[in-house]
Amino acid sequence: MRGAALAHTVVPRGDSLTVVPPGLYIHHPSSLEHDPREQLAEHPDTPERIAMVELAMSAHGWLGYELRTASAAAEDALLRVHSAGHIESLREMACGGGGKIDDDTFVGQESWQAALHAAGGACDMVRALLAGESRAAFTGLRPAGHHASRDTAMGFCLLNNVAIAAELAMAQLGVSRVLILDWDVHHGNGTADIFRRRDDVLFASIHQQGLYPGTGALSDSGSGAGVGYTINLPVHAGADGELWLSLLEYVILPAAREFAPELVLISAGFDAHRLDPLGGCRLETEDFAQMACQVRDFADGIGAPVGAVLEGGYNPEILADCVVATLAALAGEGESESIAPDPVFTARAAAYVGHHWTLEL
Ligand SMILES: [Zn+2]
Repeated sequence: MRGAALAHTVVPRGDSLTVVPPGLYIHHPSSLEHDPREQLAEHPDTPERIAMVELAMSAHGWLGYELRTASAAAEDALLRVHSAGHIESLREMACGGGGKIDDDTFVGQESWQAALHAAGGACDMVRALLAGESRAAFTGLRPAGHHASRDTAMGFCLLNNVAIAAELAMAQLGVSRVLILDWDVHHGNGTADIFRRRDDVLFASIHQQGLYPGTGALSDSGSGAGVGYTINLPVHAGADGELWLSLLEYVILPAAREFAPELVLISAGFDAHRLDPLGGCRLETEDFAQMACQVRDFADGIGAPVGAVLEGGYNPEILADCVVATLAALAGEGESESIAPDPVFTARAAAYVGHHWTLEL
């Protein structure tokens, strides 16, 4: 288990003692340059989201996290996930001054550099985690990634940052199994698509049913060799933290324990918060902290590091509070608290997921 909350720990490495920070916070100035409001004035994905998060983190002394600047993703890292055509069209659109991909996804002149660094930061994160430089890390970067599939940018997402990082971990860093937990209120359709035929990535998502992009049915558990390795847990509008935590504790984490990942990645969106303007769920800030406690303790129990990448969260002040609470928990603050399983929705979800994994409900 972790040492004292938020303290730097000294661990033996080789013959010397190394000071390990409680976490790494990876960011880049290009995240503040990508601004879809240049093309749609009321767009909710604003640079202020990142500015508010950084203001709050700095007011908390960055929670002891070590700040790092993201590098740009290498072309080969992008090509493990995306087609050459997709990469080229994004680059050309940005270099040509920008353009519209769909009704809510835009590319500006600065967007290519922002996307490259959002993906590159996620790659930096897994490299550092797997080198033992910290047990937890977060990328405070945008644009987000979980809606982007191999050939398609959509839902504010250009490149699929979490998928690019997972593929790098498996291709170059000796990792055999990755858990991707997506707790954004929207279904991570891009990530699900990219890995739906694979049995080396367990993709588990809790999301609001009927919300954009409309995918992620409970009955969709992946395809081919990947059947069972996609866990979709849609919840109704108005679902609260108790239901989300129940699904995490009684469905996702037992399956993940059996899967035994060597790396845990979180697609950390915070738009399931009750004060988010896009989502319709009712999570409180503390619910995100509790989800992070649960994931931290699970990962500690199996010796896997945890990396979180920022996805959604469109009330900048609330987003900032949620990120601080989540990163404090990932660094060791707070305790996991077991709750009673939700009798209806969790039991129904477990009936599906229990076809593939041993659940105790
Ligand atoms: Zn979202």
